[in-house]
Amino acid sequence: MNLIDGKATAKQIKMEIATEVAAMIDAGHEGPHLAAVIVGDDPASHTYVNGKEKACQEVGMTSSIYRLPEDTSEKEVLEIVDFLNNDDHVDGFIVQLPLPKHIDENKVIMSIKPEKDVDGFHPVNVGRMALGLPAYISATPFGIMELIKRYNIETEGKRVVVLGRSNIVGSPMSILLSRKAYPGNATVTLCHSRTKNLKQIAKSADILIVAMGQPHFVNEEMVKKNAVVIDVGIHRVASDQTKSGFRLIGDVDFDRVISKASYITPVPGGVGPMTIVSLLLNTLKAHKKEIYS
Ligand code: NDP
Repeated sequence: MNLIDGKATAKQIKMEIATEVAAMIDAGHEGPHLAAVIVGDDPASHTYVNGKEKACQEVGMTSSIYRLPEDTSEKEVLEIVDFLNNDDHVDGFIVQLPLPKHIDENKVIMSIKPEKDVDGFHPVNVGRMALGLPAYISATPFGIMELIKRYNIETEGKRVVVLGRSNIVGSPMSILLSRKAYPGNATVTLCHSRTKNLKQIAKSADILIVAMGQPHFVNEEMVKKNAVVIDVGIHRVASDQTKSGFRLIGDVDFDRVISKASYITPVPGGVGPMTIVSLLLNTLKAHKKEIYS
């Protein structure tokens, strides 16, 4: 069994980004600049945005955060988006979701210029991704693709089963791995709550990607011997074995599946750490105009 160490991979990628950014700045150029808009007081969203700010600092990128109160109107948010769309010093930006209920998230996402949509949520980027054109790919699928690449996991001709069809994880994963590329060229089955015989389908997978939001749903009986298991799920559960009184677990029952898997991502330390570096990689691509020239 090989552990897919997302924490170490993310650290390595951050070092690579930092080297590239330092070289740009040393050469007298402006470095990449990521902006983030956050509306309201949701503690988890603030933690994510603070993490993104810290990651930018670590790699030498500029970050600017627009922290707006809960009662900010949709019009005001759209005005800031418009401002960032037109600010030549900002390479890319994100609007942290969820937004307060009185703001239409789709309207806000649609108002972001695709060229600056480093979260990869705009339909233009999703469409380009589906067509195999250069696109910003959203952070979690991008991070998983990067792990597959860096661990040299063969995907061509493999049977991939994705459990969960969300717009941000399951669906893009299924599209990416069925594209004519590496990682890709796999035969993909996408499962969801209406799927019949899900357990048998999961057991047929050479590569099993689990993004269901169901703690410890996948056990050893659902995993083929030597399968690659990627666990996206993340859940905080009470624990009397940690100081904090809780621990993080995934959608996969790691201890029961580990002996069956050829490669497996742990939780924490697997897919999670890759998401922020994916955003940094997208910002770097934006700065270098790699996607939209
Ligand atoms: P969603 O809740 O948006 O989607 C869950 C999907 O799983 C849906 O397609 C749903 O089916 C399916 N599903 C749920 N229960 C079952 C079941 N019992 N049987 C079959 N299918 C089921 O989740 P996300 O994709 O946003 O997130 C999944 C998990 O990944 C969560 O734990 C989340 O916290 C975590 N996550 C972690 C990230 C990271 O950085 N590590 C990033 C993003 C998410 P249906 O469509 O039919 O309802």
